[in-house]
Amino acid sequence: MRDFLPEGWGVQGERGIAFVVTGPSGAGKSSVISELLRRDKRLTFSVSATTRPKRPDEVHGRDYYFLSEEEFERLLSAGELLEWTVYQGHRYGTPKREVVDRLAQGKDVLLNVEVRGALAIAGAGLPCPVVLIFLVPPSWEELVRRIKARGTESEEALQERLTIAREEVRHIPEFHYLVVNDRLERAVEEIQAIFVAERRRITRWSE
Ligand code: 5GP
Repeated sequence: MRDFLPEGWGVQGERGIAFVVTGPSGAGKSSVISELLRRDKRLTFSVSATTRPKRPDEVHGRDYYFLSEEEFERLLSAGELLEWTVYQGHRYGTPKREVVDRLAQGKDVLLNVEVRGALAIAGAGLPCPVVLIFLVPPSWEELVRRIKARGTESEEALQERLTIAREEVRHIPEFHYLVVNDRLERAVEEIQAIFVAERRRITRWSE
């Protein structure tokens, strides 16, 4: 490749890229993300901090850093969060250092955050492209079905998730890509295609 490019030019994949996957609860983000991480060794997952209680199948340090309110507050006031938000009464935030260090090592970082977090990351001045991917289920009906199928939702929590989802999809025009998660395999392949294309973007390095 170097033989063909003028001095100072390259393709984006030579350096790190931040890929943000967002979508309403029930879009299937977690399953899609774990499959992407399994298939693509250049990706590293940005583990968020949260004050929400751990679910039985989750592991501290792999899925989230499960923190107390005080611990979260400490990170926040030390300026160590790239962005943060409150979602259904719990706080969630992206630890800055991990993301910045991995990008500096030329690794791609995959983030699972809700809409406001995605837009905040896009505007956070990271020294890399931030690619915003919005994942949706095939229909509203399917979204309701998937949330109910989790079985953990009370009617009130279900209604709250639907209200949040309605607000979230209004922001789709601010994203770069829209992927429909009808079948997991297909959604994963489409996102992998986005990765290939973004890594092949021709770019001029500023330094
Ligand atoms: P859950 O509690 O179901 O794991 O996540 C609830 C929501 O919080 C999801 O939409 C998830 O994408 C979002 N989320 C997880 N980590 C972060 C984070 O660090 N920042 C923001 N803004 N949202 C997050």
